[in-house]
Amino acid sequence: MTTIVQVGKKVLRMKAQEVPKDAIASPEIQGVIARMNEALATQNDGVAIAAPQIGESYRIFTISPVVFEEPGDYHLVYINPEIMEVSKKTKLLNEGCLSCRWKIGDVERHLTATVRAYDEYGNQFTESADGLLAHIFQHETDHLDGILFIDKAENLRDMTEEEINEVLQENASPRYDQIKD
Ligand SMILES: [Zn+2]
Repeated sequence: MTTIVQVGKKVLRMKAQEVPKDAIASPEIQGVIARMNEALATQNDGVAIAAPQIGESYRIFTISPVVFEEPGDYHLVYINPEIMEVSKKTKLLNEGCLSCRWKIGDVERHLTATVRAYDEYGNQFTESADGLLAHIFQHETDHLDGILFIDKAENLRDMTEEEINEVLQENASPRYDQIKD
């Protein structure tokens, strides 16, 4: 089982390295993506994960299919993602992180974001999003630069046992106001 690295480990604070385009198809990179998805699937409340969170300093993040109501609508694998554009408008949103158990806090994020990345087959794409997906783009690209939500959060606090249990019992369904990634 792939473990999720917790805050305090150096890999979470490093600037992750780009994946050379011709290495995307390699067993090494495909294996990293598979292990990221495997680790993410073990977390009831997880919606996305970045490669450094499994100890791999690569610029990759993946999104759980549970985020989307219709499967196949969006890309789930983002390699060398770059945020191209964000809205001026921002919003404070409740946020957590699989690598910062069990903290919660409010983070100001742009309402919309456009990302350019490569998919797992090496094809480049551009995707614009609002809501939860825009939020994920920003949280995950931060991870690739060694930035954690706890660096930006207001009202950062420990979750109560009750809140943790609630989160763990939540079945995987799209949630737009509270995320852990
Ligand atoms: Zn995170």
